[in-house]
Amino acid sequence: MCQPLKIDVTFYCYRCGGMATGKTCPHDAKDHLSVSGTRQREMLSLGEEVPPEFSRPEVVAVLKDYYRTLGTT
Ligand SMILES: [Zn+2]
Repeated sequence: MCQPLKIDVTFYCYRCGGMATGKTCPHDAKDHLSVSGTRQREMLSLGEEVPPEFSRPEVVAVLKDYYRTLGTT
């Protein structure tokens, strides 16, 4: 029996070209950029600049949009 996760693991998928979860994305983990880090979430939700070594600029833009929508709920 699989133990259901309390929260969906959310990540950016380079192949989906956007945010995805394990339920929606069939791609391999190597195509994923995890955003599970607390500090990363803070930076993104606050719209702070994310270090370039963390992510490509276009990815950061998608992530910021994503966390902006989360912040409104
Ligand atoms: Zn994918």
